[in-house]
Amino acid sequence: MVGAWWAGRVDGKVAVQKAFSAKNLWERSPRIVRRVAGGALGIVPLSVLLGGSFRRHRRRVRESQRWTADQLRDFQLDAVRRVLRLAYENTAYYRRTFDAAGFHPDSLRRLDDLQKIPTTDKGTLRGHLREMCTRPVTGAGVDYVTTGGTGGEPLGFYIGRDRSAIEYAHLVTAWERAGYRLGMPMAVFRGRVVQPDAAGLRHEYDPLLRHHYYSNFHMTDENMRRYIEHVSTVGPCVLHVYPSSIAALTRFLMRIGRPAPGNVRAILAESEIVYPEQRRLAEKVFGCRFFSGYGHTEKVVASAECEHSTDQHVFPTYGYFELLDPEGRPITTPGRTGEIAGTGFINSVVPFIRYRTGDYATYVADRCGACGRAHVCIRDIAGHRTQEVLVAVDGARISWTALNMHDNTFDRVRQVQFYQDTPGRAVLRVVAAEGFSEADRRRIQESLGRKFDNRLEFKLEMVDAIPLTGRGKVVYVDQRLPVE
Ligand SMILES: [Zn+2]
Repeated sequence: MVGAWWAGRVDGKVAVQKAFSAKNLWERSPRIVRRVAGGALGIVPLSVLLGGSFRRHRRRVRESQRWTADQLRDFQLDAVRRVLRLAYENTAYYRRTFDAAGFHPDSLRRLDDLQKIPTTDKGTLRGHLREMCTRPVTGAGVDYVTTGGTGGEPLGFYIGRDRSAIEYAHLVTAWERAGYRLGMPMAVFRGRVVQPDAAGLRHEYDPLLRHHYYSNFHMTDENMRRYIEHVSTVGPCVLHVYPSSIAALTRFLMRIGRPAPGNVRAILAESEIVYPEQRRLAEKVFGCRFFSGYGHTEKVVASAECEHSTDQHVFPTYGYFELLDPEGRPITTPGRTGEIAGTGFINSVVPFIRYRTGDYATYVADRCGACGRAHVCIRDIAGHRTQEVLVAVDGARISWTALNMHDNTFDRVRQVQFYQDTPGRAVLRVVAAEGFSEADRRRIQESLGRKFDNRLEFKLEMVDAIPLTGRGKVVYVDQRLPVE
């Protein structure tokens, strides 16, 4: 038995690290490819299973929360220099652009000097990927990953397999601010396709990570009732969600008038825009903190809230962050909005230098007054491409955020989605919940009609279901007009 236990432990460790290395953790939680007997493994601390790289990075990310502004600057200057040298010495693209700008990595004295180098973006990747690689990409340890490009066409690049341990170190450190502890059960509603178990429940359990996966592709009333019931049996836990999946659970509980399970300690949300009203309702119904983080496949910037504030604190150990105005100048004035750009410290295969993400945010401060961390704080992060808007008859944009009704408009409604292919006109697809009637239909018409104020005509279409994206996210506006 001892032999078997040991073999299991070793295999388990490899399985965890393998699973980690191949996943984009901001998008989905790591998956144990092979089910390992969990009993004996349960006594091995998760931090051991996650490996040395995870533990090293976690220590540094934790410490960096107490660094002074000077310590942070020194660390970042060092890290940026390393990335610039790597790029200059090993890639034709960066050597050419740096030379053209009259810049040499050794001349970097201050972080501001970075502004001498041109920015990059998705177009750069599309046009020059091959000459942006620092080493052969066919070898072991390199993955090809894709991210959403403009016009829905995916955009691919290469990245080292070691990224996941580093990324998870950041995630865990962030989650700890909300009460998460490594090894605590996690109920996950994040776009994983989960088959029904023997009892018909769409649930899978990973005994190593103690993750319970539920299918957010199947959020019917009956399934949600069973998910909630099951979550209530797993002991003190956190929910790891998309903002839209927790919104569905919240609205379901409110609709049926049942309390949320008392064992949920925090709601951890990433990967979608957080609508303030969804946050407020989820906190009210679940009686715990709604905590959000931000990241993306390109891995140049990651941020999260803190214990006391919902502002996004940018991790200084992840990349060098810049917020740029339309002329490409850094914004450091509170209240001003700009494009998020970053020089990533994680990808040594394809360096991302001054990479414009296409996401926007508002600058708050260079430190958080509530927790004291000397981290840049931003808020109101919104994806450029994912900005969900309707186009009024006069051509003006009406954002979904503005329509996110705070009243009883969508009572007895399970899901809604606008479809638009003509300015000034739209279809509102509605999935009815139990008890939906003609009165509900009229209320929606009147209430939204008031908001649109004759600028947008819409008709209701009752549908059985609204498909999620391939990654299981909700699309509130199926927009077919060019709105970029
Ligand atoms: Zn703070």
